Amino acid sequence: MSKIQAIRGMNDLLPETSPVWQYVESTIAQCVQAYGYREIRFPLLEKTDLFKRSIGEVTDIVEKEMYTFDDRNGESLTLRPEGTASCVRACEEHGLLYNQTQRLWYMGPMFRYERPQKGRLRQFHQIGIEAFGLQGPDIDAELLLMTARLWKMLGIDDAVTLEINSLGTAAARGVYKTALVDFLSGIKDQLDEDSQRRLDTNPLRILDSKNKDTQALLANAPQLDDYLDDDSRNHFESLKHILDAANISYRVNNRLVRGLDYYGYTVFEWVTDKLGAQGTVCAGGRYNGLVEQLGGKPTAAVGCAMGIERLILLLQTLAKIPESLASLPDVYILAVGQMDGKVEGYALALAERLRENFPAIRCLSHCGGGSFKSQMKKADKSGAAIAVIIGEDEVTSQSMSIKYLRDSGDSKVTQVTLPLAQGIEKLAEIIA
Ligand code: ATP
Ligand code: MG
Repeated sequence: MSKIQAIRGMNDLLPETSPVWQYVESTIAQCVQAYGYREIRFPLLEKTDLFKRSIGEVTDIVEKEMYTFDDRNGESLTLRPEGTASCVRACEEHGLLYNQTQRLWYMGPMFRYERPQKGRLRQFHQIGIEAFGLQGPDIDAELLLMTARLWKMLGIDDAVTLEINSLGTAAARGVYKTALVDFLSGIKDQLDEDSQRRLDTNPLRILDSKNKDTQALLANAPQLDDYLDDDSRNHFESLKHILDAANISYRVNNRLVRGLDYYGYTVFEWVTDKLGAQGTVCAGGRYNGLVEQLGGKPTAAVGCAMGIERLILLLQTLAKIPESLASLPDVYILAVGQMDGKVEGYALALAERLRENFPAIRCLSHCGGGSFKSQMKKADKSGAAIAVIIGEDEVTSQSMSIKYLRDSGDSKVTQVTLPLAQGIEKLAEIIA
């Protein structure tokens, strides 16, 4: 019978790699919590309308990338393609936005039916950060400072650059959209196929077309910043002043737009040239209209999301993964002998005592019996620094034998047998 395989674009995370994920996830959690952000978790499945109403009906995500299916009772559900919509839904549902500000973060898998390639998957993982109830550009700036600090913590700050833009208000964008469509309609047959389609559905998205010819044609297109209203212009200018004063470098990219409808005012991306076409590691912006659009009161909001797979690819590319991450055991405990379970029981009980005495210890107990030689082979292979040998003699004399599998510091000493209490003290010295 043929074997069942995983779904294309949905990866398994194997034990060799999981320490890298734990490292990245815990570094990010540590970073955002240092700014007072608190974790929120919400379901992977939501009603389809939530995403249609927030991301926008004519965006790539909603038009062709969502995993949508009918529940057994005929209700249309969707595996979340991003986190912001669910975050707003959850906050509203639990009254978290009423008369208060919120700084929140979350992480987990997102699902989009895209063409799988390097840095682009169908199940990928994001860390999302959202701040609600704050209108000023200072919180936008703090978000950028926070992500900049994170790149420093991960050692990739030299490889990423910040691009910012302002999308203005919906009204200003509307006027600009008309001007852009007028201009592009005149040269429609010269545009790439995707951009021709977007001319009717999502014309702003043409601005960040990856097609070189289309990009060249855009040189003469109307510029979004000429259409900005005073309020968003001032907001953007203040943001730039704060970033200058806080020593964050950035590039204003007037063609930076986002693929989701809810953004207005500030938008930004952290990009790298080290990952080919999938160069955006973190993207976000302001979405003041979304809470109201989903049935709440008008609420200022700004946030971003970063792709964990791309961050890890970047760490690998730049050789920035700390060597100490491999999680080898400290101690391997052997149980050699036939005493009606007494040897195994004594060895397992000793392992429990070690875990109580040294909460951070990684202790592997040998299971499955076998000769001394075969157990020692396993101990060696495990990568542990020390083997603790429990045989019939040790059980009878209430002791343990400690064998150095690496370097004891004293070439003459390779093994010692000590009474239990002293043995534990000795281990404390070695493990410390
Ligand atoms: P892109 O332009 O790369 O498709 P996007 O505009 O669709 O990105 P967002 O929806 O803003 O991206 O998601 C934020 C981040 O999530 C991206 O910058 C990227 O790091 C990551 N990301 C998005 N889609 C994928 C995917 N299919 N596979 C892996 N990571 C992804
Ligand atoms: Mg995309």
